[in-house]
Amino acid sequence: MASQQIAILSVYDKTGLLDLAKGLEKQNVRLLASGGTAKLIREAGMKVEDVSAITRAPEMLGGRVKTLHPAVHGGILARNLESDEKDLADQNIQKVDYVVCNLYPFKDTIAKINVTIPEAVEEIDIGGVTLLRAAAKNHTRVTILSDPEDYHGFLSELEKGEITEQSRQRYALKAFSHTADYDAAISDFFRKQYAGNGVQQLTLRYGTNPHQKPASAFVKEGTLPFKVLSGSPGYVNLLDSLNAWPLVKELKQSLGLPAAASFKHVSPAGAAIGVPLNETERKVYMVDDIDGLDKSALAQAYARARGADRMSSFGDVIALSDKVDVPTAKIISREVSDGVIAPDYDPEALEILRKKKAGKYLVLQMDESYEPPQQEYRTVYGINLTQGRNDVKITPQGTFGSIVRPTEGATIPEEALQDLTVATIALKYTQSNSVCYAYRGQVIGLGAGQQSRIHCTRLAGDKADNWWMRFHERTLSIKWKKGVKRPEKSNAIDMLCSGQVPPKSPFEVEDYERNFEEVPKPFTPEERDEWLSKLQRVVVSSDAFFPFVDNIYRAARSGVKYIAAPTGSQNDGAVFDTCDKLDITFVEQSTRLFHH
Ligand code: 5GP
Repeated sequence: MASQQIAILSVYDKTGLLDLAKGLEKQNVRLLASGGTAKLIREAGMKVEDVSAITRAPEMLGGRVKTLHPAVHGGILARNLESDEKDLADQNIQKVDYVVCNLYPFKDTIAKINVTIPEAVEEIDIGGVTLLRAAAKNHTRVTILSDPEDYHGFLSELEKGEITEQSRQRYALKAFSHTADYDAAISDFFRKQYAGNGVQQLTLRYGTNPHQKPASAFVKEGTLPFKVLSGSPGYVNLLDSLNAWPLVKELKQSLGLPAAASFKHVSPAGAAIGVPLNETERKVYMVDDIDGLDKSALAQAYARARGADRMSSFGDVIALSDKVDVPTAKIISREVSDGVIAPDYDPEALEILRKKKAGKYLVLQMDESYEPPQQEYRTVYGINLTQGRNDVKITPQGTFGSIVRPTEGATIPEEALQDLTVATIALKYTQSNSVCYAYRGQVIGLGAGQQSRIHCTRLAGDKADNWWMRFHERTLSIKWKKGVKRPEKSNAIDMLCSGQVPPKSPFEVEDYERNFEEVPKPFTPEERDEWLSKLQRVVVSSDAFFPFVDNIYRAARSGVKYIAAPTGSQNDGAVFDTCDKLDITFVEQSTRLFHH
């Protein structure tokens, strides 16, 4: 005759317990339970034994040790093997068939305001976790119930004779998830208590918006790869920093020159490598008075990154690939900016940055050797998403090898390859859809986060055109009123260059004109066309294929000569033919680079 089946019950949440006990009793299952669980069942008039009936040891240490005993865990973990059977027989232990367990309410306790560490410690369940893990581990034989919601289904199956393998697997998975979630809550609590702010975790004032609290940044193992040298980062600052940093690191690795990026809303407004600036570029980028600029490739890279789209860079987060020197810090110090991330700082440069925004300017020091894990995780609307990191390497030689058009005799000059690399790496860290125009080692127009590709191509093209209109003699020779600030100049220049002038309303006219000693004449369409036709050898990269030829037509209007994009559109043929007609070289960049 088969021996009587055994269930061990030890639950903190006693919901549904009595019905379950009744059902088990009906099936002639022997019930063993820990103190509080046994008491409740007994008071309801059912037969139940204390776990001590098999352990022959009383609960001790005020409940810290209740079920931790070989008689319990040997009975749960034993397999249907001869050697296991012998071990049990030697110790006079009986096999356990069912375990019912849920854990102390650690999460509820730590959610209480001003909870103390001793209070939290007492809520760390030891024996329960062991019961759950042991029973879940041996689920080929043992059934583990960790959720009162499952009691009813379990009893229905039990009445039919046995618990199916599929159910045991499902219950085991639930138990493993229960302990994983529990342990995550414990490590999260102690990370906040013991790791020290800024070491393994960083408390943030709020999330994306001020009402999104609490907010923090943390790593599950080791320490954060950055240190806060000044200021205190916000959630969006960190999103910007942690996208901008890999961008400049990759630019430097790929092209061998110091690199800079200027981020806003998790996309670059500009990104560049330290190609030496010419006289006009210094003026356009408003850095012609910076001492030591010539000697700092990093400062020149930042001047380019910040200079690409000065209006969009207002309040940026900056990433710099190299140790920050004084010329770079001086450029930053007089711009409106939220923060900077770099591997290191000259002491004098750090002093300059620490004084910015009355000491509130964010300065982060990044560990250059940090490599993020291969697998990325995030939650959206409560759902966990995971993916392999986008670690594809973009290099001038490795990425742009396959020239599709023209089919014969085509080569891509070194500078164009360099610019295609800048544009493509910038796209890798830009919210999709995205299209980027580049020239002389820098982004000159970037269309980010548009739902349609042609809108990206137009937006980026219009930005490239505005950028180029800033090099027109009329823009360069604007006579500013005294006291007009740099951001106001950038806004007024953008109005002039993007053809927003003359303004329509008298109020706007007044606002615009108060910037100038002498109001610059608006550009006529002919003047614009004439000047824009001088912009040549621009490159374009796209984060995915061009679905229609309109993109090529638009790119061509801004002096584009080289295009890199993935292929695979039904319209590829037409796209290539259009490039041919417009004397544009099309090179396949075979990796789609969406970024979200
Ligand atoms: P009861 O109310 O039956 O006295 O206790 C049930 C709770 O004790 C369950 O949440 C279970 O996870 C937990 N538990 C079971 N065995 C042990 C043990 O040996 N030590 C500790 N600390 N908790 C246990």
